Amino acid sequence: MKIITVSYRLPVSLKKENRKPVFRQSDGGLATALLSYSEKSGYPLTWIGVADFDESLWKKAKKECPVDFELEPVFLDKHVNRRFYGGFSNSILWALFHYFPSFIEYSEEDFEAYKTVNDVIAQKIDEIYKPGDIIWIHDYHFLGLPALVRKRQPKAPVGFFLHIPFPDFEMFRILPDRTRRYLLEGILGSNLAGFHTWDDTIHFSECIEKILGITHRNFFIDRETHHVQMGAFPISIDFNKFHNAYYHENVVRLREEIRGLYEEKKIIFSVDRLDYTKGVNNRLNAFENFLIKYPEWREKVVFLLIIIPSREGIGKYKERKRMIELNISRINGTLGNYKWTPVVYQYQPVNFDKLIALYTSADIALITPIRDGMNLVAKEYVASRRDKRGVLILSIMAGAAKELQEAIAINPLDTLLISDMIANALVMDSSEQEARMEKMQKYLRKYDVTFWANDFLRTIEEVYRKDTHTLDLDGIQKENLLKKFSKAGKRLLLLDLDGTLIPFKSRPELAVPDQELLDLLKKLGQDPKTDVWIISGRSRDFLEKWFGDLPIGLVAEHGGYIRYDEWESVIQEELGWKNKVTEIMQKYTDIHSESLVEIKEFGVAWHYRQLNEERGFLLSRELLGLLKSHLFNAPVQVIDGKKVIEVKHFLAHKGTTCRNYILGRGHDLIIAFGDDKTDEDLFEWLTGENEISVKVGRGSTVAKYRVESVSKVHEVLEELYARSLSPASVVINK
Ligand code: UDP
Repeated sequence: MKIITVSYRLPVSLKKENRKPVFRQSDGGLATALLSYSEKSGYPLTWIGVADFDESLWKKAKKECPVDFELEPVFLDKHVNRRFYGGFSNSILWALFHYFPSFIEYSEEDFEAYKTVNDVIAQKIDEIYKPGDIIWIHDYHFLGLPALVRKRQPKAPVGFFLHIPFPDFEMFRILPDRTRRYLLEGILGSNLAGFHTWDDTIHFSECIEKILGITHRNFFIDRETHHVQMGAFPISIDFNKFHNAYYHENVVRLREEIRGLYEEKKIIFSVDRLDYTKGVNNRLNAFENFLIKYPEWREKVVFLLIIIPSREGIGKYKERKRMIELNISRINGTLGNYKWTPVVYQYQPVNFDKLIALYTSADIALITPIRDGMNLVAKEYVASRRDKRGVLILSIMAGAAKELQEAIAINPLDTLLISDMIANALVMDSSEQEARMEKMQKYLRKYDVTFWANDFLRTIEEVYRKDTHTLDLDGIQKENLLKKFSKAGKRLLLLDLDGTLIPFKSRPELAVPDQELLDLLKKLGQDPKTDVWIISGRSRDFLEKWFGDLPIGLVAEHGGYIRYDEWESVIQEELGWKNKVTEIMQKYTDIHSESLVEIKEFGVAWHYRQLNEERGFLLSRELLGLLKSHLFNAPVQVIDGKKVIEVKHFLAHKGTTCRNYILGRGHDLIIAFGDDKTDEDLFEWLTGENEISVKVGRGSTVAKYRVESVSKVHEVLEELYARSLSPASVVINK
């Protein structure tokens, strides 16, 4: 068993220096976290990524690779890689996912290259994967990959984590349909799809709902081949590494050097990769505003602005660099003088010691992205402040802002607010700085990158194990159930109607039982050892008309009415909300005449089975949103059923009614069949060893077993009936 991790960049680089191959290990958080997990769990690690070195060099040098894991570089054709990385990944996905749609340069060739590379990596995984391994795929370069892996290895546990934001539906839908489907279906190939925040997770779930028509239950989806869990896993940093570096000799020396250079001045600091998402020009404008509004700070403060070169081959990045540099020289030219340069700028990377020295010299870290999945710089600044000094000013548009509550939160476009916050931060007293830092450090120490990796990998395993949770009711499983049934003294059958005993029709009134079903229910109900109930969402009139003469119990309106001998209502209230709901639904039916409104006693339903599939689904999403907003605080449940949206009183509930009126009456075996969301309310109550729930058809479920169709339900019921006549049953009867 091993962990196979996939990311665009490998955690190791290889270069020829003085004619000799030289390996350099990047000390990124991901590598640290995965290696620590691998060490603790004992699972070896294999890392697949795109090589930024030549294959011939690798072949010569690979034996000397100084790492404790297997490295599997993939060598791409340069032309394909350019379209894949600079094109689709960074000129389309990066721009779109960070809400810069006008920066997108869409090209079909780039999309083709993206698919090709995802295929190449899937092939590589396939060569390495052995049953028992866990596969963890990282980031927007490989959105298609989980599904490609799933196709080759249907049983593999696959996790996917997105390191950038996931955009909302309105943004994502701009992609051509084939592209967006490829990307969404791609992610859904995983068992666990992780995002930085719940907002990202909700955006993704809305996109799969509105574009693919796939709904989830508690962020969990049941697919043909596997289960998918979605969730938020905010990435973090190696807290101790940053915290402990404060006293390192070299860091101390560098810090003294920096402080010495700006002895009488306060230091504002920022470090970012060159990127239009980072809000550098707004930051510069805010600093300029600050110097204009608070002239007393001139010559007493310096802004150390470090930009790390990034993606320089892409037009938008080149343009951004020019804009930043022009802005810096304009500010320095107009506000600075021969004694003082307000903005000190560096366009080069800094090594770790220098970075820590800068973090720990800075009075303020000014972090102002327009949009950022997380922003690790903010977390690193806090972690490195072992002296508990310094103030973090942080954009609300960074994922990190959700966690770092003691930062000074700013809107990145509000340059006036930012300049006031700079002024406040510069005079914040040390006890307040300390209190804020302490709280944030306590959080980061606990939720560090190792926690993140453990949490994610543990969840993949957990979801994967759930894959075997719902078993097909055939073969040995069915035989066991039949045996249990024939041995049980008193048995209870709880049967949903539509989609379980009767197939769906275009209109509800056309879906009626045939004679065969009526005969089956009658003979089952006549067995003195078996109680049979129909637990339906239909009205009591409908049930009475078709099943009223059978020796069985009836529950109508999802639990709102129950009939032993007479119909009895479980709800005794005025339903003030019904008129409003009817009015809203009727409006939809007036516009979309193929749909229809069904008014029941305890609820109203809007059926859209006859509408064009895609249009019906989109309308139903809109209606769901509208109803939820109108029904705030009303005692109702809004159900997103199969081609029906239904609002019902919350007490019209299959689970509650069965529990209060039917269950717990001395049955030795309970078997419930159902196909829809309301049946899950009942299944949730059936947790005992002799309480068997059976889901009909596909879809997420808490049921123990699954059968594929209505006809299979009939088959099982016939077999149960046969067993009720079997000798074993007769023996017990005596
Ligand atoms: N960093 C770097 N080179 C440097 C200075 C900093 O690689 O010269 C690191 C920094 O320590 C941080 C990362 O770059 O870990 C930036 O991560 P962040 O999440 O803030 O932004 P991203 O670049 O991922 O958008």
